[in-house]
Parts: sequence; structure tokens; C-alpha cells
Amino acid sequence: MMPITENVGDSWQGIEKSFHAGKMAHAYIVEGSSFQAAETFARRMLQLIFCQRDDVPCQACSSCIAVDEGKHVDALFLEPGSKSRQIVVADVEELIARMNHTSFQGGWKAAVVLHADRLQQSAENKLLKILEEPPSQSLLLLVTDNKQALLPTIKSRCLHVFSKENASRDLLDIRNAFGIFPPTSGQEAEMLTQIIGSSLFEVISLREEAIKAELEAEIELSKEVLEARLSSDRKLIRESAVTQLLRWLHDVLLVKSGPTQKDLYFIDRVDQLRGIANRYSADDILMMLRDIENLKQRLDTNLPEQLVFENVFRKMIR
Ligand SMILES: [Zn+2]
Repeated sequence: MMPITENVGDSWQGIEKSFHAGKMAHAYIVEGSSFQAAETFARRMLQLIFCQRDDVPCQACSSCIAVDEGKHVDALFLEPGSKSRQIVVADVEELIARMNHTSFQGGWKAAVVLHADRLQQSAENKLLKILEEPPSQSLLLLVTDNKQALLPTIKSRCLHVFSKENASRDLLDIRNAFGIFPPTSGQEAEMLTQIIGSSLFEVISLREEAIKAELEAEIELSKEVLEARLSSDRKLIRESAVTQLLRWLHDVLLVKSGPTQKDLYFIDRVDQLRGIANRYSADDILMMLRDIENLKQRLDTNLPEQLVFENVFRKMIR
């Protein structure tokens, strides 16, 4: 019998507690402040059940690493096909077969459905089967940023978790700047710097407010601890901007090098990527990738963030 819908809340602690008490549910809908946050949360849940150490998840043992790389033998990942952009019945049949099979390592077996809102309705109906009769020691995670799109019968058979983990990092979304990245003029370089600068500022001041509130509430943490946390947050938030720029260029290069769309981060923006890829040589793109990679170190110096970003953007104008 699956539990009725209940909100586990935002807490990782809630998940850990039920795991250690041996009361993990068989199926969860995992949402997040962003899809990425939800996916990260789902991976941590897998690490929790597969980790080989005592202090789980250690995130360092071979099982934890395999989960991170999506290569764990007892964890199946499903995601929408690149052509149909949907998860079809055959995918779910594979999932059910794997879940009903004995696990390779003799313990848990898990399946993660990424973008579960893109399950075809027939595939969703099929999935109900395993929700109604879940195999023992099995875990099914439906990761989505659009829970509403799931069938009510699916929703009612899963526990819901919402991840606010790393919210500071996930709040930062610079995708709206990709239209002018790489920039083609000084004006665009400037605009790009402004967009990134104001997103950074926004996210960082939100964190500052949250931390001030914690201080005012006189939570046991000392001022030093909170300040250290803020400064490490700041670094992570900046790095997240750099990571997104790197991923965008990665995609440009991939689109340039062939028709494969398999490993694209921004599969929904293939046309735009292709337009950019046509403007540059592969060498140009590689050089830009290197410049953005170097950004991380340069941001750790005492130079103002804006200046560091703008300099590297200006360098990209061809
Ligand atoms: Zn581990």
C-alpha cells in the first residue's frame, strides 16, 4: 500500500530520517526551486540508499560517484528522447522490467525519471502499475518542475518533496542573457555585464538578508560562521554564472561539431545555438571556453566582479 499524498516539506532531514528509520517511501515526486535543484536532490537521495559508508551519503565512495555520473548499475535514469522530447511507453516498460529484476549488487534498486512531466499519457498509465505494486527495496523518483502536468493518480501515489537546497545558487539564472553571448559589439559586452552583475547582486543581497535574519533571530550560529557562509555562498553564486556561460559555449561547440543533440544542456535552444555556431570557427569557440574557464580564478582576486566579466566579454568580440 502506497502512502497517501503528504508533504515531506523541503527537508533533506526528513528524507534522511525516514531512510534511517527504514521508512522510505517507494516513490517520490521531487520538485525544486529549479529543475537543477530537484535533480541534485534526487541524486542525493540515490546516494543515500547506495552509499557504502556509515556516514551516508559520503559523496566520495565509488557508489556515490557512480550516482553522480549516472552510471550506478542499480540506478536507471530515464529522460525525454531527444527527438520526441517525450518519455514513451517503451521507456517505462524498460523501467518496470529493471525494477522487477533483482538488483545487481543485492541491495536497493532505483529509477529516476527526469522531466517526468514529459511522460506520454500512455506511459504514465503504465507507470501506475509499479506505483501500485512496488517491488521491495525499490525507489522511484519523478523529477519535475511542473508537477501539475502529472496525472492525479500518479500524484496521489507519491510522496512529494521540494528542494530548496542550494537555493542561493539556483536563484541565479542568466539564460536571458544568452541572446547576446558571445557578444558581437562593445555595447553587447556591456549589456551582458550588466545583466550578470544585477542578477549576482540580487541573489547575493537575498542571501545577505537571509543571513541577517538568522543573526537577528539569534540562532546558535555565531556571526563568524554566518559571515563565512555568506562569503562561500558568494563564491558559489559567481561560479554558477560562470558554469552557465561554459555550458552555453559547450553547446555551441557541440552543435558546431555535428548533428548530435544528445549531450546538449540547452536542447530547447538548438536553433539559437546553431546560429551562433555558424558565426565562429571551432578554434574561436575553444578560445572563448578557455577564457571563461579562467574567469573562475580571476574572480577570486580582488578585482571588481563587473570589471572581470566585462574584460573577458570584450575579448570575445570578433
Ligand atoms: Zn558514499
